[in-house]
Amino acid sequence: MHTVPTLTGDLSPDEFRAAAHAAVDWIAEYLESSGQYPVRSRARPGEVRAALPAAPPEHGEPLGAMLRDFHGTIVPGITHWNHPGFFAYFANSGAYPGILGELLAAGLNANGMLWVTSPAVTELEQVTLDWLRQLMGLGDGWFGEITDTASVSTFYALAAARERTGFDIRGKGMAARSDLPRLRVYCSEHAHSSIDKAVIALGLGHENLVKVATDEQYRLRPEALQAAIEADVAAGYRPIAVVPCVGTTSITSIDPVPEVVRIARRYDCWVHVDAAYAGVAAIVPELRYLLDGVDGADSLVVNPHKWLFTPMDCSVLYTRDPQALKQAFALLPEYLVTRTQDETVNLMDYGIQLGRRFRSLKLWMVMRAYGRDGLAERIRHHCELAREFAGMVHFEGGWELMAPVTLSLVCFRRVPDGADEAAIAELNAAIMERVNARGQVYLSHTKLDGRYTLRLAIGNIRTARAHVALAWSELRAAASSIERRE
Ligand code: PLP
Repeated sequence: MHTVPTLTGDLSPDEFRAAAHAAVDWIAEYLESSGQYPVRSRARPGEVRAALPAAPPEHGEPLGAMLRDFHGTIVPGITHWNHPGFFAYFANSGAYPGILGELLAAGLNANGMLWVTSPAVTELEQVTLDWLRQLMGLGDGWFGEITDTASVSTFYALAAARERTGFDIRGKGMAARSDLPRLRVYCSEHAHSSIDKAVIALGLGHENLVKVATDEQYRLRPEALQAAIEADVAAGYRPIAVVPCVGTTSITSIDPVPEVVRIARRYDCWVHVDAAYAGVAAIVPELRYLLDGVDGADSLVVNPHKWLFTPMDCSVLYTRDPQALKQAFALLPEYLVTRTQDETVNLMDYGIQLGRRFRSLKLWMVMRAYGRDGLAERIRHHCELAREFAGMVHFEGGWELMAPVTLSLVCFRRVPDGADEAAIAELNAAIMERVNARGQVYLSHTKLDGRYTLRLAIGNIRTARAHVALAWSELRAAASSIERRE
């Protein structure tokens, strides 16, 4: 006869303790020696999946068995973002204090959907984000909330902008409305695709995102913005938001936020500043200028999970107009009514999500562990390393820099004498693939004015001068070996 197991409850604390100690030992070892792993995973498509059972276990398994699979199957399928040779995209690196914060948050498993469901989750988030605001040199009067990614932060900001128009899209929707003009959003042609996605998801229509031309340093041209808005107004459209970027993804160009704010104000447009990568660099006193003019904007996104050494995921949305966010999102069903709701912040009112992870703990621990000077020193060092790398590229024949080095990203490429654009693109793609396949360092690419460009982005807390030197020697070796064969 089939018997129903009567066991309830979790594993024993001793079992957990032993496995967790081993896991923490492994993490420390891993982070100290991650150089031994290939940065980019060598897994072939489908390989990880094929190595795992297709069906779930009928009976419980010991933690040790899972950890064996973790080491044997999962780790080889990981691209190591915590590796000091990770120079692709923009870094996401997790510092020890942040990892500890994640572990403790998992232990607590607190859900900050309402203030009362964990007062510390709401209040630590507010304290932490106010600290970060101060570190970045922003004025008072900003409300901050943590989201998972800049994409979601931007979506929220544009939802607030859409609602502030007074068209009550929240209530009436956008379809079949003769009173609703086309709503337009503006950003530069180098803005991140998350702006496009937000416009699409908000039902504004992708064609209503206007990509404004940039100058020779890839910065949004204010006069082009002004002209685009004027043309739209003349056509009967309604400009609702401008999204300047501080630190574009391809090249870290810095849009002129003060001018954008001045223009946007004339047309009653919301200004959302996308500083997902570069914003936190304003912690460095000599880089404070990065956020010049941002105090005049309506919202700002920065990602501590990018350049503030906080483990994935942790994006911060600041706004000067939290009421507009509430106007877009707040709802109060009876089952969420609490006695303290009028005297507390309830973070569910400021976005889509109800349940809320305790993300501020890890950011708070990172900020406490390094302090203002420690964070500034690390970011400054990354910028120095980028300038050194750019110097090596600049002084070596047959290589060229493709954009000014504003922060810690270097855009460059190999340009052999006499090669045409197609040959240069093919050669640089081959160099990058060869370097990445060797596994010591990992780079990514972009296109600038149609020209294939390699990107070396420095931002990992463990990256040192030696890793940047290694990247350069790998690149040169790959170039000469490919060119010798040709
Ligand atoms: N904005 C900029 C400028 C970025 O560079 C990125 C990602 O690199 C994003 C937004 C999107 O970030 P997330 O992955 O947090 O959505």
